[in-house]
Amino acid sequence: MPELPEVEVVRRHLDRELSGRTIRRASFRRRDIVLGLSSGRALARKLEGRRILSVGRRGKNLLFRIDPDAVLQAQLRMTGRFTLGERRPDPKRYRHIVAELELDDGRTLFYDDMRRLGGFRWLEAEAWRALDRALGPEPLARGFTARKLGEILETSRAPIKNALLDQKRVAGLGNIYTSESLFRANIHPARSADSLEPAEVAALHRAVRKVLREAVEAAGTTFRDFRAVNGRSGSFQRRLAVYAREGEPCRRCKRPVQRIVQAGRSTFFCAACQV
Ligand SMILES: [Zn+2]
Repeated sequence: MPELPEVEVVRRHLDRELSGRTIRRASFRRRDIVLGLSSGRALARKLEGRRILSVGRRGKNLLFRIDPDAVLQAQLRMTGRFTLGERRPDPKRYRHIVAELELDDGRTLFYDDMRRLGGFRWLEAEAWRALDRALGPEPLARGFTARKLGEILETSRAPIKNALLDQKRVAGLGNIYTSESLFRANIHPARSADSLEPAEVAALHRAVRKVLREAVEAAGTTFRDFRAVNGRSGSFQRRLAVYAREGEPCRRCKRPVQRIVQAGRSTFFCAACQV
């Protein structure tokens, strides 16, 4: 599932290509990818003839800012991906196109989603502000300091891994980058969030920001499904220290990486390096 770095890679591409473009025609072919409104046609009517001001991101959400003051929120979830071009993409590679936005420059943005867990939601200004308020801070924003992270964690007795996954506490982290950040900071994922010493919070803060930045530079992590725009895949999977490496030697101490299940999801860690 795409996390902050993967969504950011898609955002940068779409922002560069779509900012200032007007949507001529929109179609959403499957009801289940339209969230909130009554039909795909209702969402298309909101978009047609309107200009995309920019493409932003909040946590794992892509936000198409629509002139003058609305937002089309897109969630890629497991298998959502975009491709942009003048012609329909190769149907062998894109077999599940469920939405299209035709632009005023002759290109079309195609959205392909095999499992259709993702989708699009129309948000007027007030609804968008409510979504923004419901999410925790952006970990790569300037205001996200070690002190801020400490304040967020000291109110939670949940295991640190689960606290970091909670989008209301910190926006954008998922299973991959929480595991990797905790490994880099030498913190055991089952520790309670409020038990971290200030030096550990500082190490975790550094680790989270560094791992996210490196992953954005590597165009994200591609396991099974993630593709950036137009089929490009990420390369951060080659640099993962613990995620999906159960039984393989820890890159630091050579003992086998372990896997535990927390809140129904796999956590990978080294029991010797992380205390
Ligand atoms: Zn180790």
